[in-house]
Formats: sequence, structure tokens, C-alpha cells
Amino acid sequence: MASVAFKDVNKVFGKDVKAVNDLSLDIRDGEFMVLVGPSGCGKTTALRIVAGLEEASDGDVLIGEKRVNDVPPKDRDIAMVFQNYALYPHMTVYDNIAFGLRLRELKGFFWEISHFSEAKRIRQSIDDRVREVAKMLAIDQLLQRRPRELSGGQRQRVALARAIVRKPKVFLMDEPLSNLDAKLRIQTRAELIRLHRSLGITTIYVTHDQVEAMTMGQRMAIMRDGILQQVDEPETVYEKPANRFVAGFVGSPPMNFFDARIVRSGDKTILDATDFKLPLDANHPAASMDGKMVVLGIRPEAVVDVTLPGSVAVTPENTLDVSVDVVEALGHQYVAYLTVGTQVLIATLDANSKIREQQKARVAIDLSQLHIFDADTEQAIR
Ligand code: ATP
Repeated sequence: MASVAFKDVNKVFGKDVKAVNDLSLDIRDGEFMVLVGPSGCGKTTALRIVAGLEEASDGDVLIGEKRVNDVPPKDRDIAMVFQNYALYPHMTVYDNIAFGLRLRELKGFFWEISHFSEAKRIRQSIDDRVREVAKMLAIDQLLQRRPRELSGGQRQRVALARAIVRKPKVFLMDEPLSNLDAKLRIQTRAELIRLHRSLGITTIYVTHDQVEAMTMGQRMAIMRDGILQQVDEPETVYEKPANRFVAGFVGSPPMNFFDARIVRSGDKTILDATDFKLPLDANHPAASMDGKMVVLGIRPEAVVDVTLPGSVAVTPENTLDVSVDVVEALGHQYVAYLTVGTQVLIATLDANSKIREQQKARVAIDLSQLHIFDADTEQAIR
């Protein structure tokens, strides 16, 4: 196993496509790091630079202590799993998994004849490893089948087995679950987490799916337009997003945003969002910025039905009168699309809520969960 580090890495395609912009990121030995961001943010390019499939325009890439910019891909001791896992169609599952090992460890027909007993020992060791990995991934019953005789999920596991069997220092995975249907994706996600726990191999996992990033990553690195926005544990990213982009990217339904002005009157500070006002704690750093325009962020779960407030204290100051447009029942909760004045407020409500479509309702906002961003820089103020 090994750590991986990007040091001031840039990648420019053509004259001006800056796919990766001054990326510095340390991935710890044995860590599961997720690179996440919308399409085109540079995550695949960053991964391909570690693999050696793409050359950095400048900056250093380290695997362990070693700078690998000039090391050919085959000598980097990494294994990649892609969205389009290309299995050899004419080979059995067994041969697909064993193929790479044979290529590396057995040095050709004539060598095998002249080193008979050594070759025999290596063949046995390859056989042991293939069977062990196949068992780990529950494909040991399928070793004699060919890829076309497998389901999509089984094929994906063969591709994983082929990567795992090499016991590389680093795994690189690029959207490896996106070809699977929703149920299988959740199942394989859990399998990958379990595998990582048991093998402890440093893994860099690329996805555009924030749910995958939140559930799988020990830490997640969020990218936008080639620029790293935040690196943290998923809970920290969710609770303390570094800026408005990250705040809107993680969480479903997404955070509500409102333009608001900080207004001080006497010893009180108010967030004035035109259609509604909320008090701001006097200790909040934004409380001293009288007159400043900010963006107020409210997560849907920070909005509660006043009749079922849970742990949220309901006061006149944090209560809003709303119109209810649409309510979606998800079974364990409701997603309600509310209107405050002219602005939309999305709320996730308790399954026992009696709030219904096309009615008036009252909701309360959990003031301990307000997010405030600078209107100009979009950075969080906290
Ligand atoms: P996706 O999720 O869609 O795969 P991504 O975040 O992985 O996106 P990259 O594939 O890394 O993004 O691409 C980052 C940017 O670099 C994009 O603007 C893309 O168009 C550009 N790009 C990527 N590869 C090349 C290339 N070979 N030549 C020119 N531009 C490229």
C-alpha cells in the first residue's frame, strides 16, 4: 500500500482547456478517497494522471515517497477499474482473472520449459489467488463461464476481481458502478466498502454522484472546473460546506438558497430575505456585518412542520407562513415544495405531517442550522 499525492498539478489540453488547475491533494496510505464533481470538472483527468495515462502539464505526482511523473503506467503498481470494464469475451471468467498474473509472472513458453518446477509453483500460486479472490466476490461458481453468460453485475465483479487479484499498491476506480441498475449499484457499493475494509488498499474513486461520494468515501474531494473546492470527511462536508457550490452539490433535495441582507437593529441582527426575515445569533461572525449582502442557505431538513417540531424550538421569530405547492410522499418522509412570498422553499417533513398540497401551512426553521455565504466570494462565513 502507499499514499498518493498531487503537488501543484496542472493539466492543460490544447491552448486553454485547464482540466486540472493547481491541484494539491494528499491521499493517505490505505485511505478510500472519492473525487467528485459535475461532468467536466477534471476528476477523470486527475485519476488518469495518477495512472500515467495522461501526463501532467506541470506539478508532481507521488506514489508513496516516489515521484512517478516519468514512471510508465505498468511500473506504477496500480490497478484500474473503469465504467466500461473490457473483459476478454473469448476467455472464461477464470482466465480473465488469471490473464494479467500469467503475463507478469510466467515469462513465456520456453522459459516455462527450462524452469519447469518454478513455473509449476507459480501456476499453483496463481490458481490459489484466482480462487481466493473469486470466492471473496462470490463469483467462484462462475469461473468456467464466458462474459456473455454473465449478468452486468457479475461482469462488474469479474472486472473487480481482475484488479484485486494483483494486490496493487493503489486502486483507481472511474465510475465503476454506473452501468449497474439502482439495486445492484447499492449492493455493489456495500461490497466495495467491505472489500476496502478487508484489503486496506489505497483507493481513489471517481464519481459524479454525491450520494456515492457521501456513502463510500472516508474523505471526499469536491472539484469544480478543475479546481479543488474542499477535502473533508463526508459529515464535515455536509455540515460545514466551504462554499455555496459545495453546499448545493451535496445533499438531496439540495439546500435552499436566498439572497439576504444583514440588518442590525438595536442589539438584534436580522437576515432580511425580502419575503421573510430570520434572526441571526449575535455570536455569528456575519452578525457584525451590518448592510452586507449574503446568501442564506437552509437545508430541507432544517424546515419543520410547527405541529411536529421535534427538537426544534418554535418561536414567532423562526416561524414562516407558507403556501404548499406540491407534496411528494416517499414513505418515510414527505418532500414539500413550499412558497414563501415569491420564493420556493423545499422541506423534508416527518411522515406524520398533515401538510397537504394547495393549503396554507406554518413551518419553523432550525436556526442552529443556518448557512451563510458571502454574496460576492460565495465562501462560507462562519
Ligand atoms: P465526466 O464526469 O463527464 O467524465 P470529468 O469531471 O471526469 O467529467 P474530465 O474528463 O477530467 O472531466 O475533463 C475535464 C475537462 O477537460 C473537460 O472540459 C473536458 O472536455 C476536457 N478534456 C478531457 N480530456 C480531453 C482531451 N483529451 N482533449 C481535450 N480536452 C479534454
